[in-house]
Amino acid sequence: MSQQKIIDCLACGMSVSFGVVNCPKCDNRLDLQHDGSTVTIDIAHNRETVRDALLKLQRNMKAARETNAQNLRVIVGSGRIREEVLGLLYDLRSRETIIDFNQDENPGAVTIKLKP
Ligand SMILES: [Zn+2]
Repeated sequence: MSQQKIIDCLACGMSVSFGVVNCPKCDNRLDLQHDGSTVTIDIAHNRETVRDALLKLQRNMKAARETNAQNLRVIVGSGRIREEVLGLLYDLRSRETIIDFNQDENPGAVTIKLKP
């Protein structure tokens, strides 16, 4: 599957191949554009192992970056998956791979800010 994914520049509406960093028309940073929305995923309630859950998280972070969403809300449950995910997120934040993350009022969910 080598079909090019096309996205629309949120600033000027130009259609651009995904992966292009600056819009050829208005020069906006396409990889930083978002509409402020949040995508929610559940990685802890389908009998996932810790490894499954982390893979699922990484896959979904990548997928969410390719949409107009700003945040990824992850349902992590209350067990080891949650601990491992928080460990990974501290690491990703220190390497500036993600902007930030916050634990919800509901301790079983974490919201990851992917774009500034
Ligand atoms: Zn543009």
